[in-house]
Amino acid sequence: MHELGIVVKVIEQVDAVAEEYKAEKILKVTMEVGEVSTIVPELFTDAFDWAKKRTRFAADAQLEMIIIEGRTYCQSCGETYKTTEFGKQCPHCGGSDTYLLTGDQVIIKDIAAVFGDEDDTQPQEGSRP
Ligand SMILES: [Zn+2]
Repeated sequence: MHELGIVVKVIEQVDAVAEEYKAEKILKVTMEVGEVSTIVPELFTDAFDWAKKRTRFAADAQLEMIIIEGRTYCQSCGETYKTTEFGKQCPHCGGSDTYLLTGDQVIIKDIAAVFGDEDDTQPQEGSRP
């Protein structure tokens, strides 16, 4: 289960970000996970729930995963197609001179945190557009 290794790296990054921005705790971590990445979402969630308990800031954090569709580009005909259906062979021209455009990423998209030092939760006048 290599998800655990990835989760540990993600959690370390989240904890480092929390420390850098002086967050009190992390509420939610949003990940973008490509459907042709090597991640199994259920295993990733399990690993996250296990790993977060060992962190300083993310022990109660929720995990949200946005699954990104795999798209492959064909260099022979210039079309794109769904990777999970056709793999490396282009359904438009039958060529195999193809490469993956998107769908193998595993990235932290967003981190929601609570900041304890702010006495006033209202934004100050003029500080927001
Ligand atoms: Zn093609």
